[in-house]
Amino acid sequence: MKNYILEYFLKYVKINTMSSEDSTETPSTKCQYDLANVLVNDLKELGLKNVKLLDHCFVVGELESNSNSNLTIGFIAHMDTIPGFSGKDVKPNVINNYDGNTIKLKNIELNPNEFTFLNNLKGKTLITTDGTTVLGADDKAGIANIMGMLKYFSLNKDIPHVNIKVAFTPDEEIGGGIGLFDVKGFNADFAYTVDGELYDEINYENFNAASANITINGLDIHPGNAKGHMINSSLVAMEFNSLLNPFERPEYTELYDGFNHLVYINGEVGKTNMTYILRNHNKELLEKQKDEFINARDFLNKKYGTNTVVVDIKDSYYNMKDIIDKDMRSVNTAIKAMKKLGITPKVTPIRGGTDGARLTQMGLLTPNIGTGGYNPHGPYELACLEEMEIVSKILIEIAKND
Ligand SMILES: [Zn+2]
Repeated sequence: MKNYILEYFLKYVKINTMSSEDSTETPSTKCQYDLANVLVNDLKELGLKNVKLLDHCFVVGELESNSNSNLTIGFIAHMDTIPGFSGKDVKPNVINNYDGNTIKLKNIELNPNEFTFLNNLKGKTLITTDGTTVLGADDKAGIANIMGMLKYFSLNKDIPHVNIKVAFTPDEEIGGGIGLFDVKGFNADFAYTVDGELYDEINYENFNAASANITINGLDIHPGNAKGHMINSSLVAMEFNSLLNPFERPEYTELYDGFNHLVYINGEVGKTNMTYILRNHNKELLEKQKDEFINARDFLNKKYGTNTVVVDIKDSYYNMKDIIDKDMRSVNTAIKAMKKLGITPKVTPIRGGTDGARLTQMGLLTPNIGTGGYNPHGPYELACLEEMEIVSKILIEIAKND
């Protein structure tokens, strides 16, 4: 099983699928079709039915139930890699029987003292980059794991399984694609995104997320005549930020702590714009964070005049837990599958969002499971083949659902 997972994985990571923030179309880059077309062929080759490349570069396919079960379980992974670091000309580097020492790549090295998880991977098969690109294990490891499961069932037709639906999706890294996914057409009872890291993790809690755009309107007049009149919007912006709780910042928070994160500021005397992202697993606490922004606005507007500070807060996505709690089949099925394989599942909150969070909101309950990939979004990215194989086995157990 290891061999064909590796074969799929190496084939997929070599195909450039970088998404782009600069496009308003879905997919944001045409190159994502290059992988989509390969996946369509691979799914057909494995005997899946209704294999389609849908509008906006969604690949779907179906392996019909060969058991009494009417249950339909979906498996989803994204095809794109991040826009911020090159995913072009990826030259995967396969290390058999890793010796536990520092791995030297072009310009960089993977030192087990820095990346302590490497100490647990001694003797394993690692796939790294050559040091100049991402690997794209995020999320092609997820795709390869799903393909590994499908290959298993195509080779073992007598093993009963439920209806399996798969979807490979575009533009996850820019948070753009999934809103266009045809959840109704996919028609699964529940699904999983295979897009985490640790092979033994399952996530069904993510942030509630909002963004706040702040506009500060100053009064720009000649500094020589400024006394009693000038309002320097950049200084008001600094004052605004100082009214927010300094410990509610990403660098001071972990686990279930929420934060406000200043991601953008651009200002001069007359006008300053700031963007914050607000995050919290707890909806009520997120509302309190929003209140802080409103209170800071009101305080400064009293001091400097109405409309000096304009705050525009918009919700981005919600914690899927609030919905999944009402129907825990998806989570329980994954936990059961892991336990059958002797794995103790780690149920951990995601400090971010997932496509699954949006899908859950759209009516398809979709927790997230790991891939066996590490250090996503940079040249230090790597994957452990043995852990990818375990994930494939977890997916097989989920689909067997016995
Ligand atoms: Zn991902």
